[in-house]
Amino acid sequence: MAATPTRQPSPLVQVSTAPPQSTNATAETPTSKPHHPKRWHIPRLLFTVKDVSHDGAIKYFNTTNTQKLLHDAVTSVLETLYTHETAPTTQRSITLILRSMDGIANTTGSELDNDHKEIYFSLDYIGELPDDRAQKEIPGVIRHEMVHCWQYDACGTAPSGLIEGIADFVRMKAGLSPPHWRRKGDRWDAGYEATAYFLDYLCSRFGNDTVKRINLAMKHTKYTPELWMTISGGIPIEKLWDDYRTAFSLHPTPKPEPGDGEKEKEGYAVIAKEEATTPPPSKTEAKPSQSVEKPLPIPPTPIATYVSGMRRSGSPSSGDVWPFAADTPAAHVMLDRLKNMRFEGKSDATRYLLEFEALIDRLQPEMSDADRKLLLCTSFCGPTMVDWYETTCRAVTYHQLKEAMQEAFRNY
Ligand SMILES: [Zn+2]
Repeated sequence: MAATPTRQPSPLVQVSTAPPQSTNATAETPTSKPHHPKRWHIPRLLFTVKDVSHDGAIKYFNTTNTQKLLHDAVTSVLETLYTHETAPTTQRSITLILRSMDGIANTTGSELDNDHKEIYFSLDYIGELPDDRAQKEIPGVIRHEMVHCWQYDACGTAPSGLIEGIADFVRMKAGLSPPHWRRKGDRWDAGYEATAYFLDYLCSRFGNDTVKRINLAMKHTKYTPELWMTISGGIPIEKLWDDYRTAFSLHPTPKPEPGDGEKEKEGYAVIAKEEATTPPPSKTEAKPSQSVEKPLPIPPTPIATYVSGMRRSGSPSSGDVWPFAADTPAAHVMLDRLKNMRFEGKSDATRYLLEFEALIDRLQPEMSDADRKLLLCTSFCGPTMVDWYETTCRAVTYHQLKEAMQEAFRNY
């Protein structure tokens, strides 16, 4: 049996790893200025191993500092989902329990009450992890489960896919994504990384606090699709999901069939069946108390995507003056959207530029900076933007123009 590193707590004893609280850390008088940074409320962190000689336990002790694992997970979850003002303070303990079991991990309220959470993590799963994966997979799984200890669930009515998507979003933002994760385009509430990537896109479009706002919106209120209208300023979930799939070319590619020409002209995409049946990673983890809502219907979308054809078309060597030569319905839709983009200086330029460049990357990734600058300038609209460009940015490169825009029109 491998020796247990001395920094580990004794496995069979429940150990509190909570750091000293600020209330008894110093002898500050009530009138002294609090010049130390605000600290999160950290509940008691407890640890139990059911079988210390299990292969998974040995691997765990050889790779993991439990105090750091749990403490980092709590602070990371709080930082991603809350502010110091909104973070819950009622959690009393979180217990990590390593034991032999099927699946990977799950989180429940304890037998005492819901303020005591228990994270069960499978020793069999840990034991089978390749050595080079264990160091990231163990904190990755714990980060996901720790979200379930803290997140709101719309009084039990949130779609389980959203609950699981937020958990994997936090894991992703911590840089703990497993290598097999991919963007998927079947349903926004497919859960796990499929939903996590979508939430990340919403953050790039509506601000870094978007997932915080989604979580907080589920504190006391039952879930309805209105949630998405609220966080996006009036855009329904179907449109957001469609925009996401367009931005990352996730619309399914219909197989061209003889006689399908008319359908293609109308531009209706066929939902790919293969994608919907791709099995998720072998996670059996689930939040038992969640009621599963029916997925929102995705309306037929007037886009048929031919990604590879579009990327190859209009290559620089073709000599076209107008680079968007791809003759597909999707290209026409995206081109139309690009040509109709207008920036009036009344919104966040960073988000605008993200969408601007995402469209160009779909249509003509090789476009020169000179052409990008010309296109960007033609999207400037109204006297504010014309004045700003004339006084500030007339003789700059494309990159300088982008930086100046982001600086001048930030956080609207
Ligand atoms: Zn989960």
